[in-house]
Amino acid sequence: MKEKELIDKFFIPFYNLDLPNDIKKAAGDDAAVLSVGGKNLAVSVDTMSKDTHFYADIAPYDLGFRSVGAALSDMAAMSATPKYVTLSLSLQRIETPWIEKFLGGVKACLDEFDCHLVGGDTVKGSLSVSVQVIGICEFKPIYRNSAEENDLVAVSGSLGAAKTALQFLDKNSSKNADIDHVLARYHRPSPRIALAKELAKYMTSAIDISDGLFSDIGQIACQSMKQITLFKQDIPIDPIILKLINEKEAILNALAGGDDYEVAFTFNRKYSKKIANIGKSLNIPITVIGTVEKGRGVRVLDERGVPIDESLIKGFDHF
Ligand code: ADP
Ligand code: MG
Repeated sequence: MKEKELIDKFFIPFYNLDLPNDIKKAAGDDAAVLSVGGKNLAVSVDTMSKDTHFYADIAPYDLGFRSVGAALSDMAAMSATPKYVTLSLSLQRIETPWIEKFLGGVKACLDEFDCHLVGGDTVKGSLSVSVQVIGICEFKPIYRNSAEENDLVAVSGSLGAAKTALQFLDKNSSKNADIDHVLARYHRPSPRIALAKELAKYMTSAIDISDGLFSDIGQIACQSMKQITLFKQDIPIDPIILKLINEKEAILNALAGGDDYEVAFTFNRKYSKKIANIGKSLNIPITVIGTVEKGRGVRVLDERGVPIDESLIKGFDHF
């Protein structure tokens, strides 16, 4: 059984039992939304495990930074502001220099987003890091289930670098500035918190790109009960990866790679100009990559209008 099937079969029904009014959103989105003391809180947790999400030889600073960055990204997907974090760490043994460096990475990322570590848990076991995030929804939280027919689909930044980095980590090859760039994209995710807050008024649905653009957009299509068409030639491939790998691999990394932690969203096309201006003002590229239509599922059309083979771009599954 795959991760999505597991979630759909067991966890979504579990949470859809008669919910009290204060639970605005339970399982199914990037974060739960809870109404507490007149405010909406967004709550999510993300785990990174050795061999599934990172190699055993990852630098502890990078592991700390990346675990927090990836976890905060779910707040961007809700247009929420992350505030507090708890950290659960499973470790084989206690090595103080390792812990110091790991926490250095945790702190650097938290400081960037003005977030605070407020607790956690430490246990003995295979190396794994869980980061729970609590954020405040200053705006209406943006869900995955509300894309509308005739909306446009856009994505922030560029895609494919994180997956490309994995290929170079595998190879253990000598470094140059281009490889450093992709490794930084993998190790130091930059969740789009500020951008998502600016876009909140205009987005109809949103998700962050953790498992791969095709797969993550599939969540919006599925939950919104719409068809989404993406145009291959419009996908913003990270230009640096085109210097490192061939174009065919690059497009696959951009569509299926994951770990880019950009925000993909839908919006009413009447706001196109507003959205372009927000991107310009924050100096973050925003690229329109597709459309929302009647129907179900996602397809990616090539320059001749032919759908590209889905089996190539399925994305990351944790199992
Ligand atoms: P993301 O990629 O944004 O972290 P996932 O695709 O991993 O989100 O999870 C989808 C949804 O399934 C989330 O809303 C999450 O809360 C829910 N979910 C996943 N695993 C569990 C679990 N073990 N218990 C309860 N809910 C879960
Ligand atoms: Mg997410």
